[in-house]
Amino acid sequence: MSSIYECPCCGNKTFNPLSKAMAGTMKSKGKKCTKCGKRCVNGKGATAFAALYFTISFICIVIVFIHGQDSEWWYTHEVPIVLGLILNMLIVPRIVNGFFFKMMETVRIDAYDKEK
Ligand SMILES: [Zn+2]
Repeated sequence: MSSIYECPCCGNKTFNPLSKAMAGTMKSKGKKCTKCGKRCVNGKGATAFAALYFTISFICIVIVFIHGQDSEWWYTHEVPIVLGLILNMLIVPRIVNGFFFKMMETVRIDAYDKEK
């Protein structure tokens, strides 16, 4: 059975939840496979999820902003809620990527330039 932690290029299980989470989506340069050296990212599913999650979080932030002056409660809680949503927007897709979605080789042509 194929695993989501398999490298899409060489088929070895070179990734774990942490390294997969850090590999980013199709827009990023990805993480190097330790066996074949190809750079891998989370594929279409993960990229679509990240975009959807970003949109939902953004709508929530806008709603919070609109209601920000409605009452005393909103006035004191607006900033922490917005900060929480922004943090959520950055962290949740990474956690989800760590446990779901298949990986693919990065599509960025500059991914192999300037190796550190
Ligand atoms: Zn590989």
